[in-house]
Amino acid sequence: MLKPVDPRQSLPKLEDELLQYWDEKKIFEQSVQKDAPAGSFVFYEGPPTANGKPGLHHVLARAFKDAVPRYRTMKGYRVERKAGWDTHGLPVELQVEKKLGLRSKVDIENIVPGDPRASIIAFNAECKKSVWEYRDLWEKMTRRMGYWVDMKNPYITYENDYIESVWWIMARIAELKDKAGESMLYKGRKVVPYCYRCGTALSSHEVAQGYQTVKDNSVYVKFKLTPGQKIGDFTTDEKTFALVWTTTPWTLPGNMALAVGPAIKYMAVKDDKNDVYVFIQPLDSETQLHPSGEVLAKFAGADLVGLTYEPLYQNGSKHPFQILAGDFVSTTEGTGIVHIAPAFGEDDLRVAKENGYKDVVTTVDLTGRIVAGFAFPGEGELVKKRDGDGNFKADNLIVEDLKKRNLFFASQPYEHEYPFCWRCDTPLIYYAKPSWFIRMSALNEKLVANNENISWVPENIKEGRFGEWLKGAKDWAISRERYWGTPLPFWECDKCDAQVVVESTAQLEKLSGKKLDDLHKPYIDEVDFACEKCDGVMRRTPEVGDVWFDSGAMPLAQMHYPFSEAGKAAITDGKAYPADFISEAVDQTRGWFYTLHAIATLMQQAGVVKGGAAYKHVICLGHILDGKGKKMSKSRGNVVDPFELMDTYGADLVRWLFFTINPPGLPKRFDIKAMRDVQNRFFRMLWNSYSFFVMYAKLDNFSPSRELINHAHGNEEYTTNSNSVLDKWIISSLNALILEVDTKMNDYDLYGSCTAIEKYIDDLSNWYIRRSRKRFWKNQNDSDKKSAYETLYVVLQTLAKLLAPFTPFLADSIYHNLTSKNSVHLANFPVVNNKLIDTDLNTQMTLLREAVSVGLQKRAESKIKVRQPLAAISLGKKFAALFAEGTEYVAVISEELNVKAVTSNTTEEDIILDTNLTPELEQEGLARDVVRAVQKLRKDAGLAVDDRIVLSIAQDDSIMQGVVKNFGDYIATETLATQLVTELPDALAQIEEKIGALKVVLALKRA
Ligand SMILES: [Zn+2]
Ligand SMILES: [Zn+2]
Repeated sequence: MLKPVDPRQSLPKLEDELLQYWDEKKIFEQSVQKDAPAGSFVFYEGPPTANGKPGLHHVLARAFKDAVPRYRTMKGYRVERKAGWDTHGLPVELQVEKKLGLRSKVDIENIVPGDPRASIIAFNAECKKSVWEYRDLWEKMTRRMGYWVDMKNPYITYENDYIESVWWIMARIAELKDKAGESMLYKGRKVVPYCYRCGTALSSHEVAQGYQTVKDNSVYVKFKLTPGQKIGDFTTDEKTFALVWTTTPWTLPGNMALAVGPAIKYMAVKDDKNDVYVFIQPLDSETQLHPSGEVLAKFAGADLVGLTYEPLYQNGSKHPFQILAGDFVSTTEGTGIVHIAPAFGEDDLRVAKENGYKDVVTTVDLTGRIVAGFAFPGEGELVKKRDGDGNFKADNLIVEDLKKRNLFFASQPYEHEYPFCWRCDTPLIYYAKPSWFIRMSALNEKLVANNENISWVPENIKEGRFGEWLKGAKDWAISRERYWGTPLPFWECDKCDAQVVVESTAQLEKLSGKKLDDLHKPYIDEVDFACEKCDGVMRRTPEVGDVWFDSGAMPLAQMHYPFSEAGKAAITDGKAYPADFISEAVDQTRGWFYTLHAIATLMQQAGVVKGGAAYKHVICLGHILDGKGKKMSKSRGNVVDPFELMDTYGADLVRWLFFTINPPGLPKRFDIKAMRDVQNRFFRMLWNSYSFFVMYAKLDNFSPSRELINHAHGNEEYTTNSNSVLDKWIISSLNALILEVDTKMNDYDLYGSCTAIEKYIDDLSNWYIRRSRKRFWKNQNDSDKKSAYETLYVVLQTLAKLLAPFTPFLADSIYHNLTSKNSVHLANFPVVNNKLIDTDLNTQMTLLREAVSVGLQKRAESKIKVRQPLAAISLGKKFAALFAEGTEYVAVISEELNVKAVTSNTTEEDIILDTNLTPELEQEGLARDVVRAVQKLRKDAGLAVDDRIVLSIAQDDSIMQGVVKNFGDYIATETLATQLVTELPDALAQIEEKIGALKVVLALKRA
């Protein structure tokens, strides 16, 4: 028995009731456990960090992550959905630092004054706690939006089991060698992007997330060449300088050499102060600031190699200060002579190493300050730190010093892209430090080849953003000098070069005899054991792992692979690996999408998994912007609270907006106007159609047959016996829709699926139901009425199933009421009945709707209102097909356009209207105006729809008399008047209304 439907139903209220219902009946659990003839469909949850509040962009990602598994479940797959939490790493540490008012690592290790161990215990305890600060809010958001994921048994990256799997993966990587026989895991001094505020190196994919355009001051500096050196015929004297350009003045104290391009042409120029400068020739670039004057000599860069110079600062370098050859010297920027500070540049370190430099002079400490003890200007100052006026203090102090010593030539503003820490927004510096690396650069080809097996939405990401990234993938710096992270399982001998990568807690226990309850720092650092090779002690490398390694390891680690037998089996038999589907925002091409792919490729190399891709299909989502296209941020005050939004408009409408606003990869401009638009365009139209059906079905005691209800589970194909062309058409296009949505969902095209459904709902509401209204209204229960009910029933019930993946609440509410079955989410996806798709019929109906729409437009142009009947309309040859199928379409056109006769012609002109009005047509138009005015009067008087009336129409002039004479019966029938009079002294309601050019008094009372 159908329950009544409130046409003005609040969607949020309906959703609230369904949430309780789903919980009570465990519908999600049932949907996972039901029969799965199609097998497993593997989904991975990209783990969020729960230490921040969930935002609207999380709702976006979760809408996509929800719809695909729901669809697959309806298609007969078993789709387990394990939630996950990313719990380690800098984001967590930073938040705790802020909360405790700590500003550096020194502060952290002094939480308990003088006791670093107790301090780290306290710090990590805070980190662990803070991870769950917003867990409730996340769970609430997840439930509220209808995202089905198993939150009761999530994977948590800080748990010992998870860490143990990560260790095991690292141990496999340590065993791998590249083609040259070099270990894939290595420790090296390498110039890495380094955040001195966070005190840690960043991996290249982290750096890629934080570039900003900045204006710096570049400087031209004079390096005095040792006097008396010969360059061809030219000899250096007391006033000969190599002119050097740098964008990082703070690195100048760390200078150890200069570099030139051997093939580049240089010259010596004497200016008006008799200073001689050596620099690049010719002067052809506007970006290069060079001295002018007499050219004394010209030479090749090769001639300069080996020249010595006086260092700007005595920095303790044991190597001669000399000019080296470099292959990286630019001819378009600067002076062609490059300042080499091996501690602060990748090329610098390489060229120094190539020239046999053993030591590296480090003039900036790990906290980003210029070191003390050498009398460098700016000693103790932070580098790259702007003061209140926007100036770099350390740079300025160095420049001032050089000016005083006449070693400064000029400065020049310089705009460039500079990397900042993606977490704390501190400018990064390039810094040579010892780090642990995975040699990803040896796997570029493999990474690219494995990407071949992944299908991307949008497609261009595959070869573009992601493919390019893989081609150029650099070695992965995986160590972080921090506290709250997976401890790296690397133990090194303090006497020899022995190294052990521990793969399990059991192995560690065996080696050390110690068993830890908590694998984190500082406890793990206290576990050491004897070296097998010498009498030294094996100690753990103090760093923790890159948090992105944790999330990239989730396919194996969430199953506690290989330590859990069940987990191992699930990976091996394909029930948990690889993922059929993942989805996150597009920035993850350099984050989670990449680390999943990198670890999958490494594990393939290690023979752990077959195939080299961790996922087969991925949808990359664009970012959410505000209505004006601006990024949403707290400081702009344009952040939309997802809870407020869902409680106002309903989670389903937020979801639907995200699916239909534009293709998934594009940025999404979000505003309330768009939200209201979806409400009218989608929800109102669907809900009105549904409530219309339920209201009349209840009035007529229509109840669907068993066959129709069974159709609800998609087990049986529906066939129609209706003779109505409207019924045949809406069923035909319904089947075409099933086919289209099923095909597109199989291709992960959610946008295409939803826009097709939306168009169908428009057809249903604005054509099928509007044209069919009278069939439901009529008094007799004939077979045509039955067909109309059956048709609309099947359409609504099928629509509920098609909508289920996208708007799970609305769909279930409709489905539940129509079928009395437990849930649409336990039903099968609709199956197309190809026999019912009548392509010709669909085309004709589209043509008919076009004819009506063009006709209405013509009427609007003629400025004659639609209520005024016209004599005739003639349709051009474009619409000829409408006359070939009998009179049915012609009748529709006549009614929709309110014309007496519809004819066809063979011209190119689409529609010709006869706008001549005979007195009789005019009278009929006025009669319709009267009907409309009386209907309104009835309503205002509070009459029921079936109340009979006595109607009075004042007929003071001949025109109105003519109307009543010729169309009185029509007026009476339409207004339920049993009697027409010219006066009504005891009227219930009365009004003076403009009818055509006349003012007419209308009055009525109950009959
Ligand atoms: Zn930082
Ligand atoms: Zn040893």
